Amino acid sequence: MTTRIPHRFYLTEAQLPTQWYNIRADMRQQHAPMLIPGSYKVAREADLYGVFCEELAHQELDSTTRYVDIPGEVMDMYRVYRPSPLVRAYNLEKELDTPAKIYFKFEGNNTSGSHKLNSAIAQAYYAKKQGLSSLTTETGAGQWGTAMAEACAYFKIPLQVFMVKISSQQKPYRKAIMENFGAGVTPSPSDTTNAGRKLLAVNPDDNGSLGTAISEAIEVAVSTEGCRYVLGSVLNQVLLHQSIIGLETKVAMDILGEYPDVIVGCAGGGSNLGGLIAPYMQDKLLGRANPRIVAVEPKSCPSFTRGKYAYDYCDTGKITPLAKMYTLGCTFTPSGDHAGGLRYHGMSPILSKLYHDGFLEAVSVKQTSVFEAATLFARRETILPAPESAHAIRVAVDEALRCRETGEAKTILFGLTGTGYFDLAAYTQYHSGQMPDYIPSDEELQKGVLLLPDVPEDIAGE
Ligand SMILES: *Cc1c(COP(=O)(O)O)cnc(C)c1O
Repeated sequence: MTTRIPHRFYLTEAQLPTQWYNIRADMRQQHAPMLIPGSYKVAREADLYGVFCEELAHQELDSTTRYVDIPGEVMDMYRVYRPSPLVRAYNLEKELDTPAKIYFKFEGNNTSGSHKLNSAIAQAYYAKKQGLSSLTTETGAGQWGTAMAEACAYFKIPLQVFMVKISSQQKPYRKAIMENFGAGVTPSPSDTTNAGRKLLAVNPDDNGSLGTAISEAIEVAVSTEGCRYVLGSVLNQVLLHQSIIGLETKVAMDILGEYPDVIVGCAGGGSNLGGLIAPYMQDKLLGRANPRIVAVEPKSCPSFTRGKYAYDYCDTGKITPLAKMYTLGCTFTPSGDHAGGLRYHGMSPILSKLYHDGFLEAVSVKQTSVFEAATLFARRETILPAPESAHAIRVAVDEALRCRETGEAKTILFGLTGTGYFDLAAYTQYHSGQMPDYIPSDEELQKGVLLLPDVPEDIAGE
């Protein structure tokens, strides 16, 4: 007799992982090192202390520690909303009439509405432990700013958030939430920093971008005593914290006797995907198993699928260290796609390296097809997905439909990173048939790539 796998499966508190997993410890080849702007010298831990708090700078460059203990105070806060459920999407399977089994890990069950809280808590904790007096950050769609505002409220640290201007206009309630948690919110580009003023001088109507907001936040951090900067994606430390997603998933699926054939995640800066796949990538790296791993990005901001693997700045103002990653160029400003959390020019250096070495695949999808999948999913599984998350739904659904054609009973796992209750303007636009599908031309993309920094060949590598 087989027992039916529950629709929503939760680990018990005792089954919660108590360590994060660092993928780099199992990568035979590391990504190229971070470089200091100007000199192009390899960044050492102490070089990062002006921007990041010390423990996070350490985590950023630590490629050897395989498992990192999650601090007790972080675990205390994790227990408020974790474990997140592993859901078997029975209703969606039935609707698609597929022999495939579809699972998703749902990270939208906390008040911030996304997986970003997993790293926000860790970053606020380490800042508090170091005795810092304030933090700055940027936010695009608002999820990271909200998560950070919640974490900073909990650890009692003042936070200033630079919010991409177009997003602050599209989502005024995101600003309200952050302010409720005590954070200050400034639309970016702003006239409060040199980086912002420079852009406004060129174009007073600049809509802003994540890259610009990062420049502003870092400028404030490095010029303010006791202030440091925190970032919600891309960085190695963020992938480390987000490994909690994959570790929980792996424990749960092991208990259920399941192993995914295909793992799908949306990719903005790569943190949820890097976190979800972490223990499965370990299996791949160690030759224990070989699941397919698919990164999904918007056609409007195709870093993996149309970007270049090169050294680039992480921000538009070119004040961050340089990272070797798949990038569209730090000057690239994506069109006003609704998946604000996926509008970043670059990609996690870890995932970039793994992609470059053939350990993961990437596809890009059109905005309208994403909302089609989002709506189908919402009507079957009753969760209104964030547009970002719906990129993964689109590709998981397509995979399940392919299984219907071939008759293969694959096990598909995808990351449902968040909820879309602040994205109702986007849903309304979709349902009224007004949603555009913007796909940049080769010429447009070429512009960003041509402006990539000229890092000497011997440093830049292959
Ligand atoms: C920020 C965000 C993403 C994309 O960021 P990654 O670092 O690539 O994970 C995806 N989904 C949601 C809901 C987000 O808030």
